[in-house]
Amino acid sequence: MRTMDQNLQRELITAVATSVIANAEELTSLDQAIGDGDHGINMKRGFEAVLTDIDGLATRPLPDALQAIGMA
Ligand SMILES: [Mg+2]
Repeated sequence: MRTMDQNLQRELITAVATSVIANAEELTSLDQAIGDGDHGINMKRGFEAVLTDIDGLATRPLPDALQAIGMA
């Protein structure tokens, strides 16, 4: 089975997390139009937790890491 390079996996997860965190206000604005307006806040909180655990997430097999990120 091929595995992703851990440094690349770390960079990709970090890029997604920082992008979501940077755009949390826009996500919340979009959610205010169709929902309860907390999507950006929730996603920001989750991806901050992802960055806190980046060492563990970068070393897991990618499917496991993605599942953990989704749960966060
Ligand atoms: Mg909501």
